[in-house]
Amino acid sequence: CDVFCLLLFFYLGHADAPVLQGLWESVRAGQQQILLSPYLAASFAFLTHLALCAPFLVLDALGGVCQRVRSWRMAAGSGPPPSLWKWYECFWRVLFKYITAVLPATALFQLLRSSSLPELAPSCWQLSVEVVACFLLFDTLFFIWHYCMHRVPWLYRAVHQMHHQHHVPFALAAQDASSAELLSLLLLALGSAWMLGCHPLSEALFHFLNSWLAVEDHCGYNLPWALHRILPCMGGAPFHQTHHKKQSKNFAPYFTHWDHLFGTYIEPRSYFRKRHDRTVMK
Ligand SMILES: [Zn+2]
Ligand SMILES: [Zn+2]
Repeated sequence: CDVFCLLLFFYLGHADAPVLQGLWESVRAGQQQILLSPYLAASFAFLTHLALCAPFLVLDALGGVCQRVRSWRMAAGSGPPPSLWKWYECFWRVLFKYITAVLPATALFQLLRSSSLPELAPSCWQLSVEVVACFLLFDTLFFIWHYCMHRVPWLYRAVHQMHHQHHVPFALAAQDASSAELLSLLLLALGSAWMLGCHPLSEALFHFLNSWLAVEDHCGYNLPWALHRILPCMGGAPFHQTHHKKQSKNFAPYFTHWDHLFGTYIEPRSYFRKRHDRTVMK
């Protein structure tokens, strides 16, 4: 019980000495200017996206020669992994949109938001609650926005259609969308953390995990260690790849509860199986 109490004490943190205080103070001391830069949000989003895509670039390259890697790719005729040329083209498209639209627009948003750095770090409990709350709010806002983009024809054509050029997405394609859509998604993420009044450390962790899950959604692999296999409330790559194939279903980015509630959920396996059966019958 003593060990349990001690762990609980460290987890919940203490008002005077939270577990994360040391980390927060060292970040604050050295990086104050960077942390308060209005360009941080867009730069962080772009760079973490690239870093998180890197392992999938390796997997895609290995897929050409390694049968085991190919076996992790999702069924339903997803075909061979995308070529390096496809990655290269996609990289320049995304970079161009970040420089010309996302970076200046989010800088303006951040300037209006006038953030400051608190002295105290959050407790581990506060950090976890804030990150989970951010995800639930972001998931809800994204679901509504995504649903609207599919239901309003001009909105679909002007904003969302470009992202659906990928019938079989790959990791980097998570951000291959129109400038308006990229901007709207980053503003939804920033807005979620802002509305909840999150600590900057919780917000940074949320943005990092958000990039990771978006990359995983689009990676094209149903990996044995993917998060949706541990947490059944999450859809993961099979759920979102089904949306890229059948656009009237699976609108939420991460969790499946909104699609269940609104009757827009389709079980990825049943969809892939149906397509596979049709292919076999042909
Ligand atoms: Zn997508
Ligand atoms: Zn869509």
